[in-house]
Amino acid sequence: MEPLDDSIVPEHAREIKAEAAEFAREHIEPNAQEYFQSGEYPHEILEAGQEAGLVAQDIPEEWGGRGLDLPQLLAVTEEFYRADAGIALTLQLASFGCEITYEYGSDEQCEEYIRPVAEGDQLSGLAVSEPETGSDLAGMETTAEKDGDEWVIDGEKYWIGNGVEADWITLYAKTGDEDNRYGNHSMFIVPTDADGYDAEHIPEKMAMRASKQAHIEFDGCRIPEENLIGTEGAGFWMLAEFFNHGRVIVAGHGLGIAAAALEEAWAFTHDREEFGRTISEFQSVQHGLADMLLEFESARALTWRACEKVQSGENAGYWAAMAKTKATETAVDVTEQGMQFHGGRSILDERRIARAYRDARIPVIYEGANEIQRNLIYGQAP
Ligand SMILES: Cc1cc2nc3c(=O)[nH]c(=O)nc-3n(C[C@H](O)[C@H](O)[C@H](O)COP(=O)(O)OP(=O)(O)OC[C@H]3O[C@@H](n4cnc5c(N)ncnc54)[C@H](O)[C@@H]3O)c2cc1C
Repeated sequence: MEPLDDSIVPEHAREIKAEAAEFAREHIEPNAQEYFQSGEYPHEILEAGQEAGLVAQDIPEEWGGRGLDLPQLLAVTEEFYRADAGIALTLQLASFGCEITYEYGSDEQCEEYIRPVAEGDQLSGLAVSEPETGSDLAGMETTAEKDGDEWVIDGEKYWIGNGVEADWITLYAKTGDEDNRYGNHSMFIVPTDADGYDAEHIPEKMAMRASKQAHIEFDGCRIPEENLIGTEGAGFWMLAEFFNHGRVIVAGHGLGIAAAALEEAWAFTHDREEFGRTISEFQSVQHGLADMLLEFESARALTWRACEKVQSGENAGYWAAMAKTKATETAVDVTEQGMQFHGGRSILDERRIARAYRDARIPVIYEGANEIQRNLIYGQAP
């Protein structure tokens, strides 16, 4: 069973897909269980990914990256998450938020902050969610106030990937108090060694344990005025655009996890013998496997269609939300069925199916919980 065939992947993305698959087989898969159990940050694998030119390479060539486009990133994502979602998340978060600076920031900002990430010398992060709200983007309360030639930041962010490890983060903060709640936020570059920036790891997770998230507190944290990205008050819209790409990629998280579950379920059911036959010979098991394939192929077809739509800017918000919802829920359903087919062994910590089952709980939440995606699908239906 090899669910991630490349016939659905556009031709120009097949070479990078093959590179990612080889890297995943050599560096991610063999170490997945160890990092899951230890919960440690996979520094060596991240370094190997940077050296292999497979991390932070959406960054344009102008700033030191390979300028990978959305289909190429999706192809890499499917392969990485199939191998292990926790390590894959760490590899992808290494440049989280950079897109906002290279799309809307100045050449000086790109030279100072984006180039080192593309070259593997620095890590970034994106800080949007807060302890009091994750879903209400326009309701975030962390503030940035202008004081002379500096911005002063106060507030808290929660769940921030690399909040401890990053060299700098892209911060979403409130800069206005207008009735139009979509014009009150702006984006900033905040170096993590700035005074008044304090981050610590959140409590250990049950899934994707090889990735690290932080609780950040800003207490009178000062950054230079030139660290504003683009236009003041345009943060909500920059983020909405960013999430259209991000949600196609998160659909890829779901597909990768679902592919892992399919492989495991197929192998187990064709190997386990009872009642004088393998359990795959029972028709109800065959139907279960068929349903897994149906769900997986539907989600994958929708995701690659959405990728094309988002890339060409055709009703991107709608298609990104569709793909994210379908593919991440497919991962939940397919891993659940895979667990059932594994019987008692499903709950053994060392089993890949158990890891995939836990990991599948995360993509239905991050990059906007699926209820929020359904709001977008309904609201932007053609
Ligand atoms: C592993 C992980 C990594 C993350 N990384 C980052 C990161 O790097 N940067 C970052 O900024 N954030 C990050 N997040 C945060 C993530 O984006 C939020 O968890 C997510 O947006 C949901 O916010 P919340 O957890 O506060 O849930 P809440 O907003 O409290 O929502 C809880 C539940 O309420 C329901 N709900 C909420 N609003 C609605 C509505 N309008 N309609 C219907 N139902 C609704 C849904 O069921 C939802 O799941 C990460 C989260 C996780 C788990």
